[in-house]
Amino acid sequence: MLVLPGTCPLCGTVCTGERFCPDCHNDILHSMQNHPYRCARCCLALPNAGPCPDCSEQALHTGTVIAAFDYVHPLDSLVLRYKNGRQLDLAPAFAQLLSQQLQQRGLLPLTNTCLIPIPGSRQSLSRRGFNPAAEFAQQLGKKLQLPVEHFVLHRHDQHLKQSSLSRHARRATAAGLYYCSRRLDIPHAILVDDIVTTCSTLDSATRALLAAGVQRVDALAIARTPPNHF
Ligand SMILES: [Zn+2]
Ligand SMILES: [Zn+2]
Repeated sequence: MLVLPGTCPLCGTVCTGERFCPDCHNDILHSMQNHPYRCARCCLALPNAGPCPDCSEQALHTGTVIAAFDYVHPLDSLVLRYKNGRQLDLAPAFAQLLSQQLQQRGLLPLTNTCLIPIPGSRQSLSRRGFNPAAEFAQQLGKKLQLPVEHFVLHRHDQHLKQSSLSRHARRATAAGLYYCSRRLDIPHAILVDDIVTTCSTLDSATRALLAAGVQRVDALAIARTPPNHF
């Protein structure tokens, strides 16, 4: 299905282009703000008040993770349409949602920082023809008026495809997956990813940025996978 500008990508209602209609927009924001046990650090929607598996099982180097929405039906299919169906016009709608969340948390305007997309593997780049995280970062940069650094963070390519692995195996293989090609002596940077499943990718990328000189690293993403998604 083609998403025409001026149509809500979720319900199809006619609205002012490249964004969700007010009803869907409010529903999504509501679900992010009102989940009873969401981890305040990594944004994971927890089933109960117990400890967050992604923050307690590993020493997470990333500061705070904020996602536009949970990777659940029907929003998960939108992310797949974006990533695999090349519906790039969804990126501004995702960016609009996320910026609204940042606004509501009193985090805007963001200054003295930059956006750094998580690099894709060579395989997925050649399969898709674009890096979904980089395209999203580009739209987010426009929205938040922040510079986007596309060429500083790199990925070693000998690792296994993350999405084919179990949660535990992902953590192990993501260690040492990323590196920086130059020093980055800046106080703050924001990693941008499409789907955050375990934080292991973010953690590895964060460690690469910290090693290059960045003092603090937070992260923004389109979607956060709930723990029961496997
Ligand atoms: Zn809608
Ligand atoms: Zn957490």
